[in-house]
Amino acid sequence: MIVVAKTDPDASPPHRGISLILVETDRAGFERGRNLDKLGLKGQDTSELFFNECRVPVANLLGQEGRGFRYLMTQLQQERLVIGVGSIASCKRSLEDTVAYVKEREAFGKPIAGFQNTQFKLAELATEVEIGQTFVDRLMAAHVAGEDVVREVSMAKWWTTELQKRLTGECLQLFGGYGFMREYPISTDYADAAVQTIYAGTNEIMKMIIARRMGLE
Ligand SMILES: Cc1cc2nc3c(=O)[nH]c(=O)nc-3n(C[C@H](O)[C@H](O)[C@H](O)COP(=O)(O)OP(=O)(O)OC[C@H]3O[C@@H](n4cnc5c(N)ncnc54)[C@H](O)[C@@H]3O)c2cc1C
Repeated sequence: MIVVAKTDPDASPPHRGISLILVETDRAGFERGRNLDKLGLKGQDTSELFFNECRVPVANLLGQEGRGFRYLMTQLQQERLVIGVGSIASCKRSLEDTVAYVKEREAFGKPIAGFQNTQFKLAELATEVEIGQTFVDRLMAAHVAGEDVVREVSMAKWWTTELQKRLTGECLQLFGGYGFMREYPISTDYADAAVQTIYAGTNEIMKMIIARRMGLE
């Protein structure tokens, strides 16, 4: 695994003095703790990791000492873009499931797809998914072309993940009580969406990056 370590505790500002170190999982002093009980993303383990007097040879240093934060920065645009792509893909799946469900579920003698509220909600969400798809497609092409789209990717990360959270909530509502049951994938979609606005840099941090790039400091 790659560990991001503060190798110069006195370096300032705080993002300086950070290095990337390769640590083999069979090194003495490395221990895995318990798997954390998460709200969503049940298909992936997230565990505690402990390093007690864990020593590695200098050859395990990745790149140059003290440049770890800079290396991480070069990958963040891609990581955040991947989150945006994943959010839109998840939205599309949730929307497709919901469209299928509202056509089959009947209330007051007709499919709930026949209610104007259902139609308007789904029409609005479908529109937003198309807008999001167009945006991430454009950014994907720019990223592959090697352009600096940090500002736009930060926009896409916060906007698509907020959409995913809102969309899964609206879709779950259209499933009624079934939406709350684990056997319906929309409940998993809803739980999984929560972390999207948190990891890979919280959405508040995304807005700080955008503001900075707008010269607002
Ligand atoms: C399932 C999962 C997987 C993860 N995987 C990884 C991984 O693979 N690699 C990795 O490095 N990290 C990973 N993380 C960690 C994740 O990136 C952090 O949880 C996230 O960056 C937020 O940091 P924090 O938890 O310390 O929250 P905090 O920094 O404590 O933030 C708490 C709240 O305060 C807000 N806040 C903080 N600072 C400011 C500010 N200056 N202005 C305004 N608001 C602010 C935040 O936006 C947030 O709403 C993972 C987390 C989870 C839950």
